[in-house]
Amino acid sequence: MINTTAYNSLTQQLKSQNVLLVAVSKMKPVADIQALYDLGQRDFGENYVQELLEKQSKLPADIRWHFIGHLQANKVKYIAPFVHLIHSVDKQSLLKEIDKQAKKNERTIDVLLQLYIAKEETKFGLDEAELQYILDNKYKFPHVSITGLMGMASFSDNLEEVRKEFQHLKSVFEKYNSQELSKISTGMSNDYQLAIEEGSNIVRIGSLLFGNRS
Ligand SMILES: *Cc1c(COP(=O)(O)O)cnc(C)c1O
Repeated sequence: MINTTAYNSLTQQLKSQNVLLVAVSKMKPVADIQALYDLGQRDFGENYVQELLEKQSKLPADIRWHFIGHLQANKVKYIAPFVHLIHSVDKQSLLKEIDKQAKKNERTIDVLLQLYIAKEETKFGLDEAELQYILDNKYKFPHVSITGLMGMASFSDNLEEVRKEFQHLKSVFEKYNSQELSKISTGMSNDYQLAIEEGSNIVRIGSLLFGNRS
């Protein structure tokens, strides 16, 4: 079941703020994605390659699929023909594989670099030195286009801490602005307002639209 009221007010708000909504549909059925599609939503995010492939084969071809989860290099080949944006590049070796598969498919794949901003040890992401290294070497990967940064804040009720993490990502973004970065993907159901206040222009929202995942 999708929350139509939440979707309508969210899209209205995000439109006025020029923020892209990625509807995160992981663990949700094809019927729910189709229902949101029928309301006009075209950008959907998934975390697992196998699940994405199954859904992609059953849903309209004009959906823009965003890959937002941790991506293993050996699975890049499956999504390379169609993926719209990979948010979660957390290793140079992964970027190299994306470049290789993009070339095979005679396309360029847009990606974001995932910066590690949370306090938790469990989240994936690059530190700033690794980010800098990748940006300095991006000419080696002509079939990928690095268009921005992605981050996940700590899972915390401490909003000031979360805000600081978003501000940190924004300051790194500004430091590398000459690198043609334009996108900031931060913000989920619980913290997207804060994320937008701190510069996010892509939000990844699941439970607010689709209900809680069991
Ligand atoms: C699941 C997930 C989301 C969406 O989370 P909600 O709290 O359901 O909005 C966003 N980004 C990533 C990377 C996710 O894994």
